[in-house]
Amino acid sequence: MHAIAIHGGAGTLSSAQLTPESDRAYRAALEAAVRAGFEVLDKGGSSRDAVTVAVQVLEDDPLFNAGRGSVLSANGLHELDASIMDGRDLAAGAVTGVRNVRNPVLLARLVMERSAHVMLAGEGAEEFALRQGLEPVANSHFTTERRQRELELLLEGKKAAGREALMGTVGAVALDSHGNVAAATSTGGMTGKKWGRIGDSPIIGAGTYAANDCCAVSATGHGEFFIRAIVAHEIAALMRYKELDVVQAADEVVMQQLVRMGGSGGVIAVGRDGRIAMPFNSEGMLRAAMDSRGLFVTGLLRD
Ligand code: ASP
Repeated sequence: MHAIAIHGGAGTLSSAQLTPESDRAYRAALEAAVRAGFEVLDKGGSSRDAVTVAVQVLEDDPLFNAGRGSVLSANGLHELDASIMDGRDLAAGAVTGVRNVRNPVLLARLVMERSAHVMLAGEGAEEFALRQGLEPVANSHFTTERRQRELELLLEGKKAAGREALMGTVGAVALDSHGNVAAATSTGGMTGKKWGRIGDSPIIGAGTYAANDCCAVSATGHGEFFIRAIVAHEIAALMRYKELDVVQAADEVVMQQLVRMGGSGGVIAVGRDGRIAMPFNSEGMLRAAMDSRGLFVTGLLRD
């Protein structure tokens, strides 16, 4: 049994904004990413590789708030966060506040595999990237017209749609045929964030978590709430100690705990049995999933 789920953020769009063209474009982009990850699993590859590949495809697509197409901080720069965790041995890597790394998920993976640390920030992370041979890109590489307009509107106080319109993130979770789970998450954060702000996405246990005895989780939403609710680890803990299944555990955290706190967003999660959960309490969450039993779904808003 192998399975993969991906998300492209919980706050990128509302039903009012979704045209037939953008619906098609989002679904095609999600399908490309989920298929890229699934192909790795289908060939007997690892969940670690599958989530890396899927997130990299989403980072390279300017539709999503990660890598190219990331949102802008209040200072007009992109500061990117990413993390990855392997459920087989609880290995983890994360980077935060990077400005010149094309694919932050690859850097997070290098931190996991080639450093003695779990998390590197800012300049130190950039220097590590150079030493590992990652080609730097200009910060403007990540900029799109849409993100610039969003920041301008926000700074002019014209951003009407509340917090949800300011978010977005990408992530992937997978179970491979060897029984190992993994999760990865990558983001530009939230539009207009204070520079130096760190969200949940690079924080192991908050935005990302994977452990073979229960599940792999990647979150998207208003990071400040997700950090305080330790969302990804909380789902794992409910499975471990309360023996909930992955759907019940993810629902409890996203639809109960986060709602009580006022934290908008969602998660994707895969259990060690290959079951997939994709709950969200926001208007939508871009998402897709595939498994070796023939499941294939994409979703944007509430179905
Ligand atoms: N969780 C991300 C953050 O707070 C944003 C998002 O997922 O939309 O940085």
